[in-house]
Amino acid sequence: MKRRKRTKKIHVGPVEIGGGAPISVQSMTNTDTRDVKATVSQIRRLEKAGCDIVRVAVPDEKAAEALNKIVQQAHIPVIADIHFNYRLALQSIEAGVHGIRITPGNRGDKRRIAAVVKKADERNISIRIGVNSGSLEKDILKKYSHPTAEALVESALRNINLIENLSFNQIKVSIKSSDVQTTVDAYRLVSKKIRYPLHIGITEAGTAFSGSIRSAIGMGILLEEGIGDTVRVSLSADPVEEVRVGFEILKCLGLRRRGPELISCPTCGRQQIDVVSIAKEIEEKLVGFELPIKVAVMGCEVNGPGEAREADIGMAGSKKMGIIFKKGKIIKKYPKKNLLKEFLKEIYSFEEVGSKYRVGSRE
Ligand code: SF4
Repeated sequence: MKRRKRTKKIHVGPVEIGGGAPISVQSMTNTDTRDVKATVSQIRRLEKAGCDIVRVAVPDEKAAEALNKIVQQAHIPVIADIHFNYRLALQSIEAGVHGIRITPGNRGDKRRIAAVVKKADERNISIRIGVNSGSLEKDILKKYSHPTAEALVESALRNINLIENLSFNQIKVSIKSSDVQTTVDAYRLVSKKIRYPLHIGITEAGTAFSGSIRSAIGMGILLEEGIGDTVRVSLSADPVEEVRVGFEILKCLGLRRRGPELISCPTCGRQQIDVVSIAKEIEEKLVGFELPIKVAVMGCEVNGPGEAREADIGMAGSKKMGIIFKKGKIIKKYPKKNLLKEFLKEIYSFEEVGSKYRVGSRE
């Protein structure tokens, strides 16, 4: 395990954040929060994908009223995302959320913040101070002219100070910009100054394609330096994609082990099966599969099994049949039309033998 920057441990419901806890993966629903059925249904899909904590927007009173039912039906902790209105924060805490996220530039006067902090303290829930380059306090923006890394950090420190002075320390902090370098610089800077756990991510990162790359680079740099206790990949896409990408980033860095790691060959003129579509279908079918096994899809039997020797299980095309191999050794052959079905059966049998491989959704 890589060395991580030691931070204070806090809780969001039963999920530990910081202090050496596993790095948790978060996402945010994009349903209308007032629509309880649609929101809970999306939360179910996020849970299946492994999401540890979900955030929901609370834009009005009706959304805050819906929270109680949402919290009761969700199996993972729910965080209320509050802008502008401290009453909505109070109402959300009353509804039983496990945490709230407030944006400094939008939070209102100190008296109101004190009321929110008092209520959070009574209910023993945590607060995320979510500094965002798009909503910095006016005086800080004026001082720095732009939302620089230093400006973002000054805003975070000011707000941490404000909340600490209210004798509250169940805090986590995020400092996000859509600019990757500014985000990295800001987190590096703030991590030297505070010991509160850091929620990292690149805000408004873009589509599933560009946003995944930007997030992987920004978050990858920080995580490799030991910075970051919980992550959210922000994508203009189905929130389930955010969870998948979040886990993929953590898996690449050896920081979480959940779900299969798919290896597939780049294909060439030797391929005997349609690697591109088969790999895509396997990836989609295995969303929510928990075991950390390595799965390979290789185009030919000449090089495939050998190239994928490290895979727990793999398939490769050959002239007439498709082959299934384990740890580089061929174990079965099937007509190509049955190959995918039989391959998936083999993968699911890993789950059935289960306990010796199973690591659970958090480890
Ligand atoms: Fe080409 Fe076979 Fe290698 Fe795939 S496994 S890239 S088909 S040689």
